[in-house]
Amino acid sequence: MRTLSFADLGLPPEIQRAVSDLGFEEPTPIQSLAIPLLRDGKDVIGQAHTGTGKTAAYGIPIIEAVNHAIRKPQALVVCPTRELAIQVSEELRKLAKYRKGIAILPVYGGQPIERQFHAIRAGVQVVIATPGRLLDHLDRRSIDLSEVRTVVLDEADEMLDMGFRDDIEAILKRIPGPRQTVLFSATMSREILDLAARYLKDPRTVQVMHDKLSVPKIEQSYFEVRESGKIDVLSRIIDLYDPRLTLVFCNTKRRVDEVAGHLQARGYLAEGLHGDMNQSQRERVMGKFRTGGIDILVATDVAARGIDVEDVDIVVNYDVPQDPEYYIHRIGRTGRAGKEGRSFTFVSGREMWKLREIQRFAKTRIAQQAVPKPHEITLRKAELLTERVRRMIEDQDLGPATLRVQQMMGEEYTSLEVAAALLRLLSGDGQKSDK
Ligand code: ADP
Ligand code: MG
Repeated sequence: MRTLSFADLGLPPEIQRAVSDLGFEEPTPIQSLAIPLLRDGKDVIGQAHTGTGKTAAYGIPIIEAVNHAIRKPQALVVCPTRELAIQVSEELRKLAKYRKGIAILPVYGGQPIERQFHAIRAGVQVVIATPGRLLDHLDRRSIDLSEVRTVVLDEADEMLDMGFRDDIEAILKRIPGPRQTVLFSATMSREILDLAARYLKDPRTVQVMHDKLSVPKIEQSYFEVRESGKIDVLSRIIDLYDPRLTLVFCNTKRRVDEVAGHLQARGYLAEGLHGDMNQSQRERVMGKFRTGGIDILVATDVAARGIDVEDVDIVVNYDVPQDPEYYIHRIGRTGRAGKEGRSFTFVSGREMWKLREIQRFAKTRIAQQAVPKPHEITLRKAELLTERVRRMIEDQDLGPATLRVQQMMGEEYTSLEVAAALLRLLSGDGQKSDK
């Protein structure tokens, strides 16, 4: 599916480091296709679904190209809303973290324009603007776009839908060039192609589309859960379903370490697997998972590709995957060989749209499920325990343990009392725990 790694891209070390800090393990498909073209100075039309990392796809080449010694905007990103302008600025700032002296400024309506005058005069290299406010600055001559070498129209479809076509054209006409013009959009339309035909030179088209996906027939559901509540819900699911093997997916390496750490602290046999680990470390963890030394494996998409473990009972998407294709790959880890499998996806409020996208593109239905309540867990744990007790009585030699119970009965307890106390102790019910 993808061909390049971040290392293959040969990014400057400052950017490579920033990308690692962000926890990105591998370029998303649109990044791996668009970054080389953009670094090469080509005009590009990029289409990929929402949430597939288009910001870094243009952000990385921009941050790489701008010159801190020139204190005028050299890259301009035009996007439809103030929220997006802020969000894009934040992501670009993270990417520029180790590039000294690069200033990135969002410019949008609703903020006092005088404050923006000041910030622009102080010297910025990258401007992320909404169309109306940018034109306002251009009319007042408070922004100088003469050094702009790259213009990105982000969410071009949205901007056209919002009626910004004339504004966009007015902006493009006021950037003298030679310039690189880039257009990103989640969807394509006649109008977008028309705009591209008029303002892009010999554009390359990069598209990441999904069509031939086949979704494994397993039970898929999702929980709506706050970020801070995810670890608790994960514990509850594991307690409730008592899976033999669980695979937990996170979007970044840092998350993998975090989640594996939290699970260990809660007493689960869990370990993380990601691309920062060397081959022998990875093999050790995989071996443990295969042989039952651990029963929960927390992994990134990339690391999980090397896993060949059948019989994973539950797949948990701790983060909603970046790409519908990842979703299919992830949940395909369970329900193999006609076995029953289940997948659970954790969705925090602002990720709902990503889940909708996945359902649309994967043509699958993911049902909402209520987060299990603590008393259900307690009940379930007791049930599971009873079941284990039954099995143990039937299958094992209980001689020495029987002797110990007999001793307790000598202290005037009935066998029924001893058993009930043990059951309660083991199911965690007697310890006033919070589960
Ligand atoms: P789009 O613009 O395509 O809708 P964004 O650029 O907003 O998507 O990216 C969505 C999320 O994915 C962001 O949180 C971003 O930090 C993250 N992301 C981007 N690239 C990667 C990557 N290579 N690996 C992991 N996460 C990534
Ligand atoms: Mg975007």
